[in-house]
Amino acid sequence: MVHTHPDGDAVGSGVALLRFVREKYGKQATLVLPDEAPDTLSFLTEGENVLVAEGREEALAKLLRSSDLLCCLDHNCASRLGCAETEVSGFKGKKLLIDHHLGADVSAYDLAFSDTEVSSTCELLYRLLKELPEVGCAGNMPEKTRVALMTGMTTDTNNFANSVFPFTLTMASELIASGVDRNAILQRIYNSFRENRFRAMSHFLSEERMKITPDGVAYVVFFAEDLQRFGLADGETEGFVNLPLGIAAVKISIFLKEDEGHFRVSIRSKKGWSANRLARECFNGGGHENAAGGKLYFPKDIPTPADAPSYIEKVTARLMQP
Ligand code: 5GP
Ligand code: MN
Repeated sequence: MVHTHPDGDAVGSGVALLRFVREKYGKQATLVLPDEAPDTLSFLTEGENVLVAEGREEALAKLLRSSDLLCCLDHNCASRLGCAETEVSGFKGKKLLIDHHLGADVSAYDLAFSDTEVSSTCELLYRLLKELPEVGCAGNMPEKTRVALMTGMTTDTNNFANSVFPFTLTMASELIASGVDRNAILQRIYNSFRENRFRAMSHFLSEERMKITPDGVAYVVFFAEDLQRFGLADGETEGFVNLPLGIAAVKISIFLKEDEGHFRVSIRSKKGWSANRLARECFNGGGHENAAGGKLYFPKDIPTPADAPSYIEKVTARLMQP
């Protein structure tokens, strides 16, 4: 089980563990995604035993009733599970957590591995699997497990641009030495998009959309009509929020995308400014110190979608005060 709107680290850690328990121990396992993963990750999920829970809550309930162990990956609490939250909270068997987000609710699990000093859940899972006496090295892990772990670590570090620790490079080195084709992975995750992503990226960066406040906060709001205009699917705006951080004056970057009754919020910050605090205090969310996310509801938080820009300016002016 992984978080809603699953990214490379979520799908990667899920597929890695699924294949590991199947091939090493002959266990039956299903990867539950609360909703669909982006197309660029289909090379990991294709042919695997995956249940997308959205609209199939009955099937999830049945699966959980017949399961002994629930492995919760890449999320720090059940509220990150979207439509699967209720079913998972009522699960009667044992629960295991493997995660790298701040503030994990470890008491909710029978066994929890929560470490924020790693690049990704995939890195933490790699370390744990390697520690098993019957494994010991990457070469003893199933091939698909190794590919999936490399994928999730690569996407969560934004291809080694952030959250890289000494062991992150050790892991990459060991996986490549074991035969993982990193170039093939990069091809799938970074060079397999549709043209519309890049048309939308130019709109994102336009003066009309990307605003920069005097405090060094860059923000972009995509309303429903922007998403429709470019026919954007989930995952096709992945990484946009990082772009404004390339500007010297920008300390925090915020990207809002309109959804049903709320905006989905992505936040990135440079060292010394806290994306996590902004997500927690102003956008009903959380995440990591410099990469976080949340939601902005209307009419609960702002009267209408059109009020999002002024809300962002108001809350960030307060946060950026010394
Ligand atoms: P992204 O901007 O890539 O969607 O998410 C960045 C980080 O923030 C990820 O680690 C993700 O788990 C976290 N995050 C994104 N959305 C939410 C949310 O709604 N709630 C919380 N608590 N964390 C979120
Ligand atoms: Mn992650």
